[in-house]
Amino acid sequence: MSRDQYTFTNPAELYAHIEPQKQHMPEPGLDADLAPKADLGEETYRGSGRLQGRKALITGGDSGIGAATAIAFAREGADVAISYLPEEEEDASRIAGILRDAGANVATLPGDLRDPAYCRSLVTDAVEALGGLDILVNNGGKQIYQESLTDITDEQFDDTFKTNVYAMFWITKAALPHLTPGSTIINTTSIQAYSPSGILVDYASTKATINAFTKGLAEQLAPKGIRVNSVAPGPIWTPLQPSDGQPQEKIDSFGEDTPLGRMGQPAELAPAYVFLASAESSYVIGETLNVNGGMPTP
Ligand code: NAD
Ligand code: MG
Repeated sequence: MSRDQYTFTNPAELYAHIEPQKQHMPEPGLDADLAPKADLGEETYRGSGRLQGRKALITGGDSGIGAATAIAFAREGADVAISYLPEEEEDASRIAGILRDAGANVATLPGDLRDPAYCRSLVTDAVEALGGLDILVNNGGKQIYQESLTDITDEQFDDTFKTNVYAMFWITKAALPHLTPGSTIINTTSIQAYSPSGILVDYASTKATINAFTKGLAEQLAPKGIRVNSVAPGPIWTPLQPSDGQPQEKIDSFGEDTPLGRMGQPAELAPAYVFLASAESSYVIGETLNVNGGMPTP
């Protein structure tokens, strides 16, 4: 049998064959252009009915962590709507095909998360296409490094907050009337929330905001039976990084400073989202699940 996510293996040696070199692509970056390819779990994620009959909306579901999560959700029995930018159609249609192969009802809903009207219609379109909604994953994000605060334009600062924070607010607010008890909300934060890099001041600030939003909303919604949690990835190989998420000289050694000594793959994040989405985490609320190769967290 070929490997799946349960195969006993040495995590320090897993993915030793994925060794990216310097490369640059225009934002938002495509998985289709990533070399070597990231592992989204296409060949390895094995479902076991953990999300049977659930209905999920995942932003940034075309590539990287969101796409790996979408694949896992579909193989666990969920129907899935994905949001992405129109220029990411190539990635989105490939992922939609994989989700349909898993038997999922799929909705592809392109648009710009910086636009509140899109965020609101995204929710109603997902609800209509899937016949309801009980998992929301706010995962879409923007990360552009700048060596100096003076290099961060007002436009970049605004775009980063709109994409990472405002969209989460607009989408969650629009989704709440549709979420019945048992529903789950998962936000993608980052190790940057508490170990901010000097070159990611705006981005890191949005991720700290996402953590606070998660914990506050979790307290508010727990009595209603809706659980809110977040996942905090460490350095993961996705199109976000070579599209100005990091300087070129950092790509070669990306993740080597983690205790595990390597970057992570999107497929290694998906099980964390499955756990938090599923009823098996019924007593887990306001938690930040760190998936970062061993870096200490508060
Ligand atoms: P990714 O590029 O594959 O995914 C990000 C997605 O965000 C894009 O696919 C795009 O669809 C979406 N997006 C960006 N701007 C948008 C906009 N204006 N409108 C609509 N959609 C937009 O990269 P990823 O690394 O998988 O990122 C997913 C999440 O993980 C992000 O929130 C990111 O901050 C977070 N994260 C990533 C890492 C990492 O090392 N890759 C580490 C920590 C946190
Ligand atoms: Mg993408």
